[in-house]
Amino acid sequence: MTETPVLEVDGLTVDFTRRGTASLRAVDQVTFALEAGHTLALVGESGSGKSTVVRALSRLVVPSAGEIRLGGARGVRDRAYRRAVQMVFQDPFASLNPAHTVGHHLRRPLLVSGRATRADVEARTAELLASVNLGPTADVARKRPHELSGGQRQRVAIARALAPEPAVLLADEPVSMLDVSIRLEILALMDRLKEQRRLALLYVTHDLATARHFAADVMVMYRGQIVERGPSDEVILRPRHPYTQLLASAAPGAAGSRERAREERAARLAARGTRTAEVREEESGEGCRFRARCPFAMDRCARRPPVVPIAASGHEARCWLHAEGTGP
Ligand code: SF4
Repeated sequence: MTETPVLEVDGLTVDFTRRGTASLRAVDQVTFALEAGHTLALVGESGSGKSTVVRALSRLVVPSAGEIRLGGARGVRDRAYRRAVQMVFQDPFASLNPAHTVGHHLRRPLLVSGRATRADVEARTAELLASVNLGPTADVARKRPHELSGGQRQRVAIARALAPEPAVLLADEPVSMLDVSIRLEILALMDRLKEQRRLALLYVTHDLATARHFAADVMVMYRGQIVERGPSDEVILRPRHPYTQLLASAAPGAAGSRERAREERAARLAARGTRTAEVREEESGEGCRFRARCPFAMDRCARRPPVVPIAASGHEARCWLHAEGTGP
């Protein structure tokens, strides 16, 4: 019998409306599931809508449509939902109150969630600090955020997220504001905690290399839609959607692949002869949202939204090229 996913997201849509202007669809029909003990990466450029997905899952924004189920249940009450679904923010300094000690940041969620009593809250605080490799725990608990390094602050933020013993951790660019030298340490820590606590982890990032390393599966988002998804190695080493190919070729250390991609693209364009001479820059309407940037764009890309064929490997790409089995 297959396990029910911890969190299921079905057709999630978020529209933002500013007075006097047309509404902007930031997230469009996004569907996925998070499973216990697994990491799913959500990658894309800034403005792609990935942080809005996280905010909707955290109940910080109200979806316009779609459904989010926790443990198979709809409409879970706020208190239970927030205990089960915790978030690690991008900026650990902004997410911690400079006026309070580390101990205060951890004791409060422990007590509010009922995971500790007044009698054992100090011991539970020390356990949390030890679990994120911070010590001596009594000394760290007395410090304020400005007395810690960026990496230590993010460890405190992770410990605070773990205090209510959540089932789901949403990590929104959790290392992008940290020194490069400690990013892998923090990601390795989250990976270990995910294993130990059977957490369902959503890792939001623009970094394909760490997504491949730490996530079993990857989804790629562009202008509010998931354009590609599948097992990490498949998506990142053999991207099918032209947008993912662009991200992969622009990744640090991908100079060789960038050259290769350019050559392959030139060869394909010469061979296909189907590309229209003029691809309209306008990206509204029913067609593919990537068409203004796509080197493979065809007439039909402007006329109809691409279908999403799924390969046997579970690798899918929202692109007309693959609907015909003629991937780049
Ligand atoms: Fe490019 Fe067309 Fe595929 Fe969109 S559907 S990514 S425009 S080839």
